[in-house]
This record gives sequence, C-alpha cells and structure tokens, in this order.
Amino acid sequence: MQKQLRAACAVLLAASAGGMTAISAQTPTMDTQYLSWPAYTGDDLELKVDSNGTHFTLWSPAADGAEVLIYDHDRNTAPVDTLVMHRGEQGTWRASVPQQLYGKFYTFRVNVDGRTLAETPGIWAKAVGTNGERAAIIDFAATNPAGWENDRGPVVENITDAVIYEMHHRDFSVHPSSGIAHKGKFLALTEPATTSPEGAATGIDHLRELGVTHVHILPSYDYNSVDEANLPANQYNWGYDPLNYNAPEGSYSTDPGNPAARVNEMKQMVQALHNAGIGVVMDVVYNHTAGGDDSNFSLTAPGYFYRHRPDGTYSDASGCGNETASERAMMRDFIVRSVEYWAREYHIDGFRFDLMAIHDMETMDSVAAALKRINPSIFVYGEGWTAGDSPLPAERRALKQNVAQMEGIAVFSDDIRDAIKGHYSNAADRGFATGKPGNEETVKIGIVAATAHPQVDYSKGNNAHAPYATAPTQIINYVSCHDDLMLTDKLALSMPGSTEAERQRAARLAQTIVFTSQGTPFMFAGEEIFRDKHGVHNSYRSPDSINAIDWTLKTTNAGQFDYYRNLIRLRREHPAFRMTTAEEIARNIVFDRVDSPNVISYSIKNNANGDEWKEIKIVFNGSTSAFVARIPRGDWTVIARDGQINPDGLDSSRGGSVTVAPTSALILARTR
Ligand code: CA
Repeated sequence: MQKQLRAACAVLLAASAGGMTAISAQTPTMDTQYLSWPAYTGDDLELKVDSNGTHFTLWSPAADGAEVLIYDHDRNTAPVDTLVMHRGEQGTWRASVPQQLYGKFYTFRVNVDGRTLAETPGIWAKAVGTNGERAAIIDFAATNPAGWENDRGPVVENITDAVIYEMHHRDFSVHPSSGIAHKGKFLALTEPATTSPEGAATGIDHLRELGVTHVHILPSYDYNSVDEANLPANQYNWGYDPLNYNAPEGSYSTDPGNPAARVNEMKQMVQALHNAGIGVVMDVVYNHTAGGDDSNFSLTAPGYFYRHRPDGTYSDASGCGNETASERAMMRDFIVRSVEYWAREYHIDGFRFDLMAIHDMETMDSVAAALKRINPSIFVYGEGWTAGDSPLPAERRALKQNVAQMEGIAVFSDDIRDAIKGHYSNAADRGFATGKPGNEETVKIGIVAATAHPQVDYSKGNNAHAPYATAPTQIINYVSCHDDLMLTDKLALSMPGSTEAERQRAARLAQTIVFTSQGTPFMFAGEEIFRDKHGVHNSYRSPDSINAIDWTLKTTNAGQFDYYRNLIRLRREHPAFRMTTAEEIARNIVFDRVDSPNVISYSIKNNANGDEWKEIKIVFNGSTSAFVARIPRGDWTVIARDGQINPDGLDSSRGGSVTVAPTSALILARTR
C-alpha cells in the first residue's frame, strides 16, 4: 500500500512518518454509540430566512439545551439578543423570530452533559465575519455579480479532456512583477490585460495563453491559520486547516469583515474564469478540521463527526490531529450537501478531495452522483491515500487501489509521478527523466493510465503491482504539485552540478510524458516558467519570498513557457492522447521492444479516438546518451525533437534511423 504523507501538518507528520503501520487493523468498529443518533433529513439546517422571518435549526441530539446569540457586529461585541432553542424532531433544536435579520450575525451555544460549550457559528455558516467567528445573515441574491444567471463553466464530456492547473491565490498574484492590483485576492483572477515589467501576460491572460482548461485552487473555504484581522502581516498558508466549510476564506477578499464581500468576490472570480473558458476546481478538505474539541463540529454535536480510538482519543488518519467520520449519516450528508452547495451557489466545476481515502467509498459515490445531477461537466478526483492508519477498514476506504469500485471518481497516480522524477521523499533520488534506470515499466503504467495492457508488466511496477483503473477517466497524471519538492527544485536537488538548461530539458521531457499519457494531466502553477520554491518542500506557511511566482521568469524562460504552451496545445488538438476506455488503450497503444535503459518507445495507432493522425510515434529518452530509434518508413511530421515541440510540425521525416537526443522526447505523426 502506497501512503503519501501530507506536508501541511509538519509537526504531527514527524510522528506518523515513523509509525505508519503502528496502529493495527484490530481497532474495533468505531464509536458505535453514534449509530443510534437520529439523522436529520431536512435541508434547512442552521439558518433559513423567508417571508415568515428568520429560522434557526441546529442538529445536536445529545444536547441538554441550545441557544442562538444575535449580534450587530462580527466580533468583539456583546449579543443584542439571545434566543432559547426548543427541541425539534430528529435531534434538532429550533428557534425563530418574525423579522428577517439581514445584516445581523449569530452564533449557537450548546449545553451538553451539564457543560456550556463555547459559541460556534455552527457547521453550516454560509457567510461569516472576520476570522469566521460569527455567522452572518445576508441576502445571497444580492451577492451575485451582473450576468451571474447566465454564467456557465466549460462543458466537459470526459475528465480526460481537462488540463488542470493547480494554483494558490497568493502564489499566483502577490509578486510585484504580476502587475495585478488585487494581489493575493479572489479578484486577482478578474483583472484582464495584466503584464509583467517585461510586458509578458500575467493573471487570467496568462492562463488563456497557456491553454489550461481548469484551475484547481488550493483551499478557498474559510480556513483557520491566517489572521483576517491583521492582513498587513502578510501571513501565508496553503489552507489545509478548515474552519467554516461553506463560506469563502476572508483573507482572499478585500474586506474580511464584510461577509457579502467574500461571497461576491469569489463569484466574480468564477465568472471571470468562466468567461475566459476556464473551469474552477475547488480543493476540499473534509477529512479533518483545524481544531479538535474546539472545532465547529465539536461545538455543535460533540464527538459525532469524528472517529476515535478505543481509548476515546481522536484517531488521526490525516496526520493533522483528527479525522472525520464520513460513514456516519450526518457527516456523509454534510459532505454531499456541502459540495452541492458550492456547485450551485458558486458554479464550481470540479472538486479535488484531500486525503480522499479517509472517506468511505459510499460517500464518494454519493458525492459524484449528486454533482453529476447538478451538472454533468463536474468532475471529482482526489488523493487515494491517507496520511496515517484509520479505524475505517481498508476495504471501505476511497483508496487508489479501490478506484475501480467508485463511479465517477479519479485518483492521482503516484506511480507516474515518482517514476518520472524520483521518489517524493528522497530529494536526491532520480527517475526515468533524470537518468535512473529501472523505472521504465512504472512510466508505462502511467502511459496506459493504470489500465490493463498486454504489454505492461505490472509486477515490475514501483508502487502498484496490478492494474487498478478500469478506465483512463479514473487517473490524474502528474509529476509535481504543491506537496513535496516542486519539479524545478526536485531537479536541482537530484541533478547536482547540472546547468539550468539541462534541468529545463529534463522538465520538458518529464511534462511531455505526463501530457501525452492517457488519463488527465495536472500541473503545478509556475512550472511553465520554471519558477522554484528555493528547495522548500513543505512551504505551507512559508513567506511570499518562497511561494510567490516571479513573473519576470516568463521572459527569462520564454522558451520553457513556449514548450509547455505547445505541449498543452498538442494534447488539446489530438484526441488520441485522450482515449476514454481501457479497451481503446489496449488496442491502440503498441509498445516497441527496446533494450536500452531509460528509453520507452510506443505508437498510438488506428486514428485513436477519432484523431486525424493515423499513427503517433513517441520515444522518450531519459538517458544521458543519444538513442537511435528505428522508425518505420513513411511520411512523418516531426512534432517534438531535441527539446523542441510544435503541434503543426517542426520538420518532416521519412523514418528509418532517427536519433533521439539525451533527455528528450521524439514525437512523430503520420496521417496515412
Ligand atoms: Ca479564515
């Protein structure tokens, strides 16, 4: 079993890294007492405003009492009213007032076992004030930007047609060279015609130029770590510390104290991206919360939403101090309704589930099905691993190796990631693209999207030893992301003594493998201009000096950007790289016999998936010596050679002996 340690909780990870298998599978079935708690089936939890007034409904079956505190301001003031809640059906508590309390804030306060718990905005706050301390009552219709009713994301027939760009709001726009006014804000992605000092396009225009279909934004719900009351401190965080799951993060808005501003500005961002033809994928982290006993879950219905060890302590498959319990009715319901809400209210086009294997497969199936009912173009993918052991039995977990049992879910391929560049946890380790032999078969597993292929010997795989996908739509291929060393840094640390030009060649080869493989390609923001993070692998709270993208690099490394742009264009113009079934892949991809290490040669034949190209010949040479490929005679167009690429053709070739330079990809195509 491959486990991927999450970097966001560095302190706790040190402990879990050494003891990944320490907690045995003997842990008994968890928390059986919660099975008798009634589930609430209504859709009006916590706040509803209608013509009869304002209605509060809190689900807290074990509470002895509950009240709602009403405030005029988002923090540091006394309540202006306190409403005693009365028992309702199915474990709820209710209170109503006849007025529409727009503009007010509220919290709940629950009594359990004779104790009065701290105030909480609840788990369903859709608008919050500064630092998410109090929920806000706002009119959501008034938060919609002009034209919102006509806003639509891109139509996606198959996830394999997507090209995903993983970005952080602050990384992307905060550097002075971005030329963007709203640095580090949702609104940064609404600004057209921004440029670097050298005149290169930045911001949303850069994304259009690059040609990606979707941005995957790191957590953008309200998270805990950045102090929204002190934005001039320029704190940074990835955001894997959820606070209020159903409200946008305040530090990305221009005014965290104005609950409607963050909602409106995030919608403006989505709308601007949609107008540019780009979809928005949200990174969601339902697997754990920033706090334990003081989380909004714990202050609403203590105990229920988490898994525990037999001694009553929080189990910790997240490596962050706790893990949620998706197998329980109201936690599952929360996850499903939460993503439904983001899809409906914010027009979100996709969801990336952090540590998805902490969730059970039934929950993930429900998530995918619910989203497809809202919009068939929405797709879902996630990390098919945990960061520690869980009381949830492995056969129920949404693991990579269980992806074939899940409908409409894709998983990240750590197989291709580590085989291309070397192991994620060993900075010096090299991979196929950097000259280390022995990774060829694992790269081939990536090329066929982990589906069964007669010429791929899974017994030689580094991670998976059997095909785990039944369709390429279940696989996300990548070589780098926010976690671990990003590609530029990995190359620098694993290729000591190399020149920058040599490392850029290796990056081109690495990404050419990713973007020509079956499955869905995914890249990390800034790699297209060869930015780095100064060797910091766990930059979750590093300053801007580490994380910000320096856009002057777009001119310095213009050739690199041009390569990435053309590589993405190649993929988007040719459906042969985007087959949708395992059968097509097995039939159309034919590997050539190669006896040299660090070389893979294959063809995509038969005008695959309706491609105009009858055959595409692809040779990857990850070795430090030239390789002479034997290409069948024919009228070939040279698409990529010696670190250059052009989907319209660089040159022509009659085949025969064709030299593939060290650390480069050769791609040839013929129409007959
Ligand atoms: Ca926050």
